[in-house]
Amino acid sequence: MKTWIYIDHFKGEVQPGSWEALGLGKTFGAVSAIVFGAGMDAVTKAAFEYGADEVIVADDAALADYRAEPYASTLSALASSLTPDLILLPTTARTRELSAMAAVDLNSGVLTDITALEADGDPSTSLRIVVTRPIYEGKVLEKTVCSAKPAFVTLRSRAFPKPAPEAGRTGTLTKAETKADAKSTVEGYSATEAAVNIGDAAVIVSGGRGVSNNPALTPPAGLDEKQAEVWRAQQGFALVKDLAAVLGAAVGASRAAVDAGYIPYPNQVGQTGKVVSPDVYIACGISGAIQHLAGMRTSKVIVAINKDAEAPIFKLARYGVVGDLFQILPALSAAFKKKLGK
Ligand SMILES: Cc1cc2nc3c(=O)[nH]c(=O)nc-3n(C[C@H](O)[C@H](O)[C@H](O)COP(=O)(O)OP(=O)(O)OC[C@H]3O[C@@H](n4cnc5c(N)ncnc54)[C@H](O)[C@@H]3O)c2cc1C
Repeated sequence: MKTWIYIDHFKGEVQPGSWEALGLGKTFGAVSAIVFGAGMDAVTKAAFEYGADEVIVADDAALADYRAEPYASTLSALASSLTPDLILLPTTARTRELSAMAAVDLNSGVLTDITALEADGDPSTSLRIVVTRPIYEGKVLEKTVCSAKPAFVTLRSRAFPKPAPEAGRTGTLTKAETKADAKSTVEGYSATEAAVNIGDAAVIVSGGRGVSNNPALTPPAGLDEKQAEVWRAQQGFALVKDLAAVLGAAVGASRAAVDAGYIPYPNQVGQTGKVVSPDVYIACGISGAIQHLAGMRTSKVIVAINKDAEAPIFKLARYGVVGDLFQILPALSAAFKKKLGK
């Protein structure tokens, strides 16, 4: 089977899911990594070190900034001449757009956000790519077959192991031609929100509406009711962030916490936030509404801290602490600091 891995990056900073895709691709044999951009030597080197046998690189100033048109045209032109069977990509905003456009060009199909993949049959006559992906907010696992070639498949972040890089490993370097037919150019970037990527975190500590619930705290004078609630929530989130810092974790949140202005949207986990799959997910003051569970139910170990023993989150949690997060979190942070010698 001819397998390609698209290495997704922003200005040379590779999205870690690309290496997870490379690891999955290697389980089916030799793989070619596809690298587009400008000044791609470091990304190419890393692709070899993570296991690519060949790197097909379009290194061109015209590809310095990701834009769907030149990237999709370059990818579909390459795929129609070199005929891969399977193109694996990490699931990101860019790759959803890119794979969809390239698949349309090639009259093929895209299967997004998958958590397992099997391939059987003869690649030249009867190849079957069967993927598993969670649907209905993660309650049902669907098996889907892509009968067209090349099958574009995007992988759910952290659903597959990341291979260990092998320093100095090399392979075949193939230069590809760019189809730079874009009518647009990027003039610059400006950040609009805090740079958090909870999707890649191995450990996440999340706070919900409960972080604002500590009546014992007296807000500074002069705050109205809403401002006092946000001030209380900030004290609660400070405890969430302390524990996250001790564990080297990312900070997540429920939508209730985001909507109430306690924390920005990039931290939101759930149906309308990010879908995460960390090794450990610690939910603090989060009830476990179905839309929140949709974003974190595939976490490997779930820990819940909640005052209400009947909170639905406890049905999913492997470990549960029934209690006030304002007491539990400082005690947990102190215990982990001691244990980890921090
Ligand atoms: C279309 C749609 C999309 C949605 N998308 C999302 C989404 O992406 N993500 C998401 O999270 N939600 C989403 N929601 C909202 C969701 O339905 C819930 O309203 C939300 O998840 C509730 O957040 P919460 O658990 O923080 O708040 P609550 O449900 O109010 O729960 C707060 C919890 O904190 C506990 N608590 C209170 N004080 C303390 C304390 N001192 N110590 C310990 N525990 C305490 C309480 O017992 C309670 O269980 C969506 C809803 C809709 C309709």
